[in-house]
Amino acid sequence: MIQYVLRADRVLVDGHLVPASVGISGGHIAFLGDLDADCPAVHDVRLPGPVALLPAFVDTHVHVNDPGTDWEGFATATTAAAAGGIATIVDMPLDSDPVTTSAAALRVKEAAAEGNCAVSVGFWGGVVPDNLDQLAALAQAGVRGFKCFLADSGNPNFPHLTPEQFRAAMVRIAELGSLLLVHAESPAVLDASPRPVGGGYRSFLASRPDAAEEDAVGLVVDTARETGTRVHIVHVSSGRVLPLLAAAKADGVAVTAETCPHYLTFGAEEVPDGGTEFAACPPIRDGVNRELLWAALADGTLDLVVSDHSPCDPQYKASGDFGSAFGGVSSLQLGPRAVWTQAVARGFGIAELSRWMSERPAALAGYPDRGRIAVGLRADLCAFDPDAEDTVRASELRHRHPVSPYDGVRLRGSVLQTWVGGVPAGLGQSTSKAGIYAPGPDNPRSHWPLSKAIGL
Ligand SMILES: [Zn+2]
Repeated sequence: MIQYVLRADRVLVDGHLVPASVGISGGHIAFLGDLDADCPAVHDVRLPGPVALLPAFVDTHVHVNDPGTDWEGFATATTAAAAGGIATIVDMPLDSDPVTTSAAALRVKEAAAEGNCAVSVGFWGGVVPDNLDQLAALAQAGVRGFKCFLADSGNPNFPHLTPEQFRAAMVRIAELGSLLLVHAESPAVLDASPRPVGGGYRSFLASRPDAAEEDAVGLVVDTARETGTRVHIVHVSSGRVLPLLAAAKADGVAVTAETCPHYLTFGAEEVPDGGTEFAACPPIRDGVNRELLWAALADGTLDLVVSDHSPCDPQYKASGDFGSAFGGVSSLQLGPRAVWTQAVARGFGIAELSRWMSERPAALAGYPDRGRIAVGLRADLCAFDPDAEDTVRASELRHRHPVSPYDGVRLRGSVLQTWVGGVPAGLGQSTSKAGIYAPGPDNPRSHWPLSKAIGL
């Protein structure tokens, strides 16, 4: 029995927006047909004209920071994700207690997530200097791959790898047939750079120069070339690493790379004095650099865009002092809209947005069952109005803390509904804000309630 059939003038199928109907049964896409196809279903939903039905977004770079902190947490992170059109997140292995460097720690994380999640959650395992013997057990226990740092992570429980340790980890991970995500900044370059002081953003920028990324990406590419390990560079911020990545890819090195909405949205010139909510590691660089990142997305040098949502206790962002502020940007709920806003201005379409923020992140984290709309795949879907515009109020986001550089920024696009495994996100939950669309038996072919009041 088909539970839902969703009909829209614009459904993203095989890279094209076409009129279609999508039938959902048992959590999967069971039917794909013409707009008016005969598809008897319990609930027959017609999306209004401009709204596009997309595969839900997949965000493979989220610091949920749970358990052990009140920086975010699974309940708020996943609710924010659902509100942003994201049906799958993958949690980073640090800034929680424990850090995810053993199978036992993974079980603690899974227990913290259990029963608290509005979307599907996966986990990256961590590689630190002394846990190579844990990696097989972590892989066996279901991590999607591994993450390491080449420079200080800021967390004493998650030390970075030396180049020798990195090489050993790459060999081990190749043996496991897994993937290594790398925070690529060079400790030597960072150590040789001036420490950030005060509220001026230029001081923060000077403390993490382009050369830190160039040096580290060089090491990653060389080691990947030598070991054959599949490797992924997280949060590329510097356009100076792009030629290295392009050359490695042309040579067939198994390297992919991501950038983040904040690097594609903001420029260093716009960061106000004391604007520590913009502090990220690596940093937001200037507007010329930002356009290099956009060109690299267009030509495939950069593969995908994920949030690197990295919130913290607001007190670590409140001082306005870049010398002491936590380096992380909070944006999970806003990623697709932020990127869409900038993408439209540069002539890109929804198909590209979906490829960068759904299909490729799903592939990166080993989810062949999502990231596209096709029969047999998971019914992770998003009703997205590409033309709506709204001004972000950080206090209205579902993140735990109302600190974000997007506060007051006007963004394009609106997420009207997210389906997670065929179930409308929020349906059945008791909170009054959570009910989104509850199709009644007396109204089987209702129009979409296109009202902010019922929005997430
Ligand atoms: Zn991160």
